[in-house]
Amino acid sequence: MFKRLLACTALCASPLVAQGVPEPVTVIHAGTLIVEPGTAPRRNASVIVRGRTISEVRDGFADIPGARVIDLRAATVLPGMIDSHVHLRGLDDRLRARLEENQRDNEDNAYTALSNARKTLLAGFTTVRDLGGDPRLILSLRDAINAGELAGPTILGAARSVSVSGGHGDARNGANRDLATLIAPGGNTCNGADDCRRAVREQVGAGADVIKFAATGGVLSNVPGGLNQQMMDDEMRAVVETAKMFGRKVAAHAHGVGGVNAALRAGVDSIEHGTFTNEESFRLYKQTGAYYVPTLLAPAAALADGVRGALTPAQYEKARAAAGNAEKSFAEAVRRGVKIAFGTDTGVSPHGRNAEEFALMVKNGMTPALAIRSATVDAAELLGLSAKIGTIVAGKDADIIAVEGDPTQNVRLLERVGFVMKSGRVHKLGGARQLTNAD
Ligand SMILES: [Zn+2]
Repeated sequence: MFKRLLACTALCASPLVAQGVPEPVTVIHAGTLIVEPGTAPRRNASVIVRGRTISEVRDGFADIPGARVIDLRAATVLPGMIDSHVHLRGLDDRLRARLEENQRDNEDNAYTALSNARKTLLAGFTTVRDLGGDPRLILSLRDAINAGELAGPTILGAARSVSVSGGHGDARNGANRDLATLIAPGGNTCNGADDCRRAVREQVGAGADVIKFAATGGVLSNVPGGLNQQMMDDEMRAVVETAKMFGRKVAAHAHGVGGVNAALRAGVDSIEHGTFTNEESFRLYKQTGAYYVPTLLAPAAALADGVRGALTPAQYEKARAAAGNAEKSFAEAVRRGVKIAFGTDTGVSPHGRNAEEFALMVKNGMTPALAIRSATVDAAELLGLSAKIGTIVAGKDADIIAVEGDPTQNVRLLERVGFVMKSGRVHKLGGARQLTNAD
């Protein structure tokens, strides 16, 4: 991913410079500037953006001849937000998705993904990690956004989630006989350590930036069997070891405590969901330095879907099991100082409403300032992108947002982001969408 971004910076942004045309300069006048979330903000400062990059942060309201001035003197300016766990592909209305599942082509899902990506960007999320979907679709979208052809957040993609047969990630789960025969194996299901090495290599070959695997059962896979560990310890170790050889980070989907702990022992970089935890889990989080990505929006959304009849009986039973415990595990992790990176599993909940996760985090004991840090500095570290994003400092990508008021007092202000700049391009100003060449 990094290479792709660097390649794009070199190839996409510099023709103007090569021809001697100066890059456009934008000056943002910020009444309050949160340079690094979790630390004290600056008052009355200017952010100077040249091309795609932040070139300087200055005290006072700078006056640069020929520069475009963006007046955010009445606003709080902060780094673009990062969601470490989304699924951009397909419909986020569960009932409609079930009804239309067998009528939709991949092209339909691709256009929906584009629309979802745009909603995500306009909500202030300038980078997302897509943890499992159709690889060609998501990775093509990623590349088109990087090339400046489409408006959307920077995407890190996992291709398909690696799973044991019958596990959370086997597309054949619960399909009728005819469909089960027709559904092409995605190369992501594996049985035995050797086979799981193959499955990881296939995802890398398909273009995955990060490897995701399912350590336990999942709520929305249409198969009964609970939320406990379903991948063997040696299979998890094989997944992690193989991914590391290719320089990929590893995210483990894990609900049941046995699976959470086994994945941490196998050396994953993050636990996604982490619904059930015990003393051993917190000891392992601390010992390994792994991040916990809580996705608190997901169990709430899944339960609501179950109540309105949008889930199968197998899904509904698991949604009920997960919903009661996710927030308890989160509150305990906050108390114990576990490293937390913001992630929502949006796609289970509606796209563009990712920031509603903040209110759940604060309700369960995190300060607003640290919740914002989890969606910027900390998520950037988890994604391996700290050199490019997460703070507003010279040399980083110009991914910048703004809200009215003070989000460190009222974190729900982040649900109404009024200004969005990504890679130096303004996509939203004064709460209104700005059309760019990529729209
Ligand atoms: Zn997910």
